[in-house]
Amino acid sequence: MSFELPQEVEETRKRARNFALREFTKELIEHFDETEEYPNEIRKKVFDAGFITIENPWNMLVTMEEFCRVDPGIGLSTLASVFGSEILLLYGTDEQKEKYLYPTLKGEKISAVAVTEPGAGSDVAGISSRIEKSEKGWILNGHKMFITNGTVADHYYLLARSAPPPSKEKRHHGLTLAIVERKWNGVNPVKLKGKLGMRATDTAEITFENVLVPNENIVGEKGKGFYIIMTFFNISRVYVAAQSVGTAQGILDLLLEYLAEKPASFREMEYVQFALAEISTLIEAARNITYKAAAKVFSFNPDPALTSMAKYYAAEVANQVANIAFKIVGMEASGSKLEKLYRDAKITEIWEGTSEIEKLVISRMILKKIQEVK
Ligand SMILES: Cc1cc2nc3c(=O)[nH]c(=O)nc-3n(C[C@H](O)[C@H](O)[C@H](O)COP(=O)(O)OP(=O)(O)OC[C@H]3O[C@@H](n4cnc5c(N)ncnc54)[C@H](O)[C@@H]3O)c2cc1C
Repeated sequence: MSFELPQEVEETRKRARNFALREFTKELIEHFDETEEYPNEIRKKVFDAGFITIENPWNMLVTMEEFCRVDPGIGLSTLASVFGSEILLLYGTDEQKEKYLYPTLKGEKISAVAVTEPGAGSDVAGISSRIEKSEKGWILNGHKMFITNGTVADHYYLLARSAPPPSKEKRHHGLTLAIVERKWNGVNPVKLKGKLGMRATDTAEITFENVLVPNENIVGEKGKGFYIIMTFFNISRVYVAAQSVGTAQGILDLLLEYLAEKPASFREMEYVQFALAEISTLIEAARNITYKAAAKVFSFNPDPALTSMAKYYAAEVANQVANIAFKIVGMEASGSKLEKLYRDAKITEIWEGTSEIEKLVISRMILKKIQEVK
């Protein structure tokens, strides 16, 4: 048994780190954090350098880690320009792949996943956007919230209700997934500004008014969209775990840079040494659980509880590490890159399932074991 990643993946890691150190300059990091613009030119360079690939998902995973280590905002927004691609890979028709997936994977289009609504975030089955059959196709009416890439995406993978739930217990039935283009009549995205962190990512509120969706844009079986989205989350959560590990590692890098400037007597203080030991141990554990969950997902043998553990744990670690580092650096962190990473870390506990939702997924799986031991 080996704990090493293949050499090809380690080489990608090195390339990703060098790329991020070269391209995500201090000036650009500050620029995108202040202006909240979408880093489109860097996104194109990321494609040209070949970092976005479906050939070997490990390459994307370590790239996510290394990019977020240097800057989570730019790193995530460039890699998430293909957000939701696994949905079409697994459930798309050949025509959908030709029209939407392959151009996205070549960097010619940007995609987004639109699930959350003003009244339904964690409660995915509670969404109220409606997609109804009409003579010419389907008619979509609804309201989506906090959609990453919302104003820059060419198309959204959108979940809406196509039939009333058959019962209270089966609220997740009757949801359908559709590909909706941003430029269609009736689609109105509005950029949300002033986020705490990850300000280089584009986030939007989107309304849909009588949008005509052609029949061929329905993904998978109608009424089964909930299962498609949950399958997708079981994949995307390992990338959020990698984002968290990278962010935590970036915070440790900054702390070491800070300590290098301090007298040896400061570094020798017990509380500083204990903090470094704690941070390194937390990161090592988060990285290991992330890779274990990813190994299952990437070999088509996902373990949803393990994936949720990785996402939950790595996100908690990113925030814990940010807290510990902040305490050591104190007021000097104010306005620094450490403060930025502290702000950027928070989202890992929220998107792709909050920490509470991940814990519910884990405990449901554990509770199933009671049935098995009975
Ligand atoms: C910057 C950003 C980008 C995002 N990008 C996207 C995107 O691209 N696409 C998309 O669809 N969504 C996106 N989201 C939405 C994100 O997935 C939701 O914010 C998240 O799922 C939580 O939903 P909510 O904000 O409605 O909070 P709520 O679901 O209202 O939760 C509020 C609090 O209650 C807790 N809670 C909720 N239900 C339970 C429960 N059953 N048991 C215990 N505790 C519970 C939560 O953990 C949380 O602490 C984004 C959000 C942000 C902030």
